[in-house]
Amino acid sequence: MKRTGIFSHYQEGERLRDFPAALAGVLEKENVFLFDAYYPGKLRSAFELDPVGQDVLSRVHVAPMIRQVKDSPAYPGALYSAAGTVAAAVRMWQGEIDNAFVFTGYGDHHAGADFFGGGCYFNGAAMAIRELRQRFGAERAAIIDTDAHHGNGTWQIFENDPDVLYACLCPGVYQERCLKVNIPVPGGVTDAGYRHLVETEFNPRARRHRPECLLWNWGYDGTQGEYGDLGLTPQVHAQVARGLLRLADELCSGRLIVVLCGGSRRDLARRLIPGVIRVLCG
Ligand SMILES: [Zn+2]
Ligand SMILES: [Zn+2]
Repeated sequence: MKRTGIFSHYQEGERLRDFPAALAGVLEKENVFLFDAYYPGKLRSAFELDPVGQDVLSRVHVAPMIRQVKDSPAYPGALYSAAGTVAAAVRMWQGEIDNAFVFTGYGDHHAGADFFGGGCYFNGAAMAIRELRQRFGAERAAIIDTDAHHGNGTWQIFENDPDVLYACLCPGVYQERCLKVNIPVPGGVTDAGYRHLVETEFNPRARRHRPECLLWNWGYDGTQGEYGDLGLTPQVHAQVARGLLRLADELCSGRLIVVLCGGSRRDLARRLIPGVIRVLCG
């Protein structure tokens, strides 16, 4: 049975209003651990989650950008969102947990080394990868991005890094350079067609790359009726999760971190997030 860490912090806004109540039946499992950032009036959790320090931020983002984010009202949420991903990576690397789900107030993938936007402020996945390198000498990582939009920030950060495979599925054009690949999702794609793209475009590249951990920038904004509607049904997310968990088992001792990205509907969050977490914890 997998030990799954859930990394969470105080969330404002509509989409996560049903949490953590929507995780009833999951949080009680013996193999599920809740890591919670500090905030006033928070629910009890077994572990506290510290914000990331300036050194961790500086490994990914330039100083003027960090200052700009610090001056914005989004700063605490941005900091704790990234902190969740970094803490998940560290605890997973140390063997405390096998895989993780990170709740974020603000996403990752539109935050580059020197720019941010589109609801993203800091790139937590990038910080996590650099933290594993710095502290533990980790070498190779892979990120798959199934948010409906192009991950321009993540792409830029790792543009010239031959140790990070980044595969972005979005409705753009095919391009590939230095293990960064954009996989175009055709209009009106079916769930089966989408899974086929993951299996034929991402999995073989991951097998060649042999990552030591797998990160998944997971957005549900490509679901039918969402703001990035790609035609996917709600069912596809747990299916993709099962496939990626199998791939992580095959390649990197099951190390998989799911980072919550786009998606706005509360009803979908309530249904899809517990579905993905149930795949992780078995
Ligand atoms: Zn998106
Ligand atoms: Zn893309």
